[in-house]
Amino acid sequence: MSNNYDIIIVGAGPAGSSCAYHSAKDGLKALLIEKHERIGNPVCCGEGISKTGLENFFDVREEWIASRIEGAVLVSPSGRRVKVHHPDAGYILNRKVFDRDLAMMAVDEGAELRVSTQATELLHDSRCDFTGVKAISNGEEIEFQGKVIIAADGVESRIGKLAGINTTLNLSDIAVGAQYYASGVIIENSTYPEFYVGNTYAPGGYAWIFPKGEDRANIGLGIAGDRLGSNKAVDYLDAFVERFFPGIKILEKMGGIIPTVKRVKPMVQGNVMLIGDAAHITDPNSGAGISNAMRSGKLAAQACAHYIHEGAADQHILKGYEKAWDKEKGREHEIYLTAKNIHVKLNDKEFEDIVELLSKSMGDKTFLGIDVPKVILGIIFKHPRLLVHAPSFLPHLFKK
Ligand SMILES: Cc1cc2nc3c(=O)[nH]c(=O)nc-3n(C[C@H](O)[C@H](O)[C@H](O)COP(=O)(O)OP(=O)(O)OC[C@H]3O[C@@H](n4cnc5c(N)ncnc54)[C@H](O)[C@@H]3O)c2cc1C
Repeated sequence: MSNNYDIIIVGAGPAGSSCAYHSAKDGLKALLIEKHERIGNPVCCGEGISKTGLENFFDVREEWIASRIEGAVLVSPSGRRVKVHHPDAGYILNRKVFDRDLAMMAVDEGAELRVSTQATELLHDSRCDFTGVKAISNGEEIEFQGKVIIAADGVESRIGKLAGINTTLNLSDIAVGAQYYASGVIIENSTYPEFYVGNTYAPGGYAWIFPKGEDRANIGLGIAGDRLGSNKAVDYLDAFVERFFPGIKILEKMGGIIPTVKRVKPMVQGNVMLIGDAAHITDPNSGAGISNAMRSGKLAAQACAHYIHEGAADQHILKGYEKAWDKEKGREHEIYLTAKNIHVKLNDKEFEDIVELLSKSMGDKTFLGIDVPKVILGIIFKHPRLLVHAPSFLPHLFKK
């Protein structure tokens, strides 16, 4: 079999598989490589996604869904609970099935998939243009030639670094996550995820309970990297579980890093493109990244198809991906980043006030859609102490 491809995609998470799916659908010869033997395993994720965040990209399959989200409960440091109803808000996925299915859908469109294949180096020609990927596949060294290389290899993107893009993250640029998948988890309503804010539980972040049917749930938290000190995220998780869910049975343990920072610059270097977590495009405030990963995979595939169909002569065409990303998501990302920069500094009294404000404006009400940036701005402009942060939002208010 020839090892020449239009596009080589490194990493079969939601970003990589979406990119492979759309490129193959657009007629490109696509190779998707994944270092693990099994796609979607291990995966470290709360698995929550909004309805539009999923349905904008794929028709939902029942087997992807562990449970439906019809609202949410926010819990303040003192234990005050605010419930918001939002029928059809979204889903808690079963990512082991979801990630594998996305990769299979790419294969069904004509992409080639190689598991147990880890990219180790970028290949380049005498002009230093990247020409492909060197990998270890089932213990053997192998080279793949490609016109475009996609780094979909997650937050610590080695491929991005090899292409010369600065993907280094400081402690203030990340949240450190820890999560248990557990049984025996009893919460008020199994279609309402719960979010706990407060510096005792999760300094600079929050804790979550994402129900996964019957009495099972993902219980996790994210802590701002620069607030951890010598502690580990899992220590906070153990304290949280002991306090609120003693007696649960832990079935799986996982941990991971969430980028909570500006996107990488550039996202495209020559013929190498960064997508998903590799491009640091998770929502910096909530840590949600599945939907953005799929969006970036689709946009990168579109730019790549344009480039290949034009004869792969003008690498500038690939920059269309970066422009499209900024047009669709740039402003929202900046608002969430500004919100995160405020969030990490809030004290418990301020969290208490915010929960009270939300209780007044949204408590026990039903919404068919929630404009999160608008809610954030609403809080900032209503809270006397948070108002000092208003100037940092002003540039976003006047941008399209
Ligand atoms: C604790 C935690 C909770 C989270 N909860 C949520 C949530 O509830 N909702 C949400 O939307 N997001 C959540 N996220 C974020 C979400 O998991 C990521 O944004 C999403 O998985 C990004 O997808 P991706 O395809 O870019 O990267 P990944 O899912 O990380 O996939 C990258 C893939 O690349 C492979 N790979 C890496 N290097 C190589 C190599 N050299 N060669 C071949 N393959 C390679 C990896 O094995 C992996 O399969 C959470 C993250 C964490 C850490």
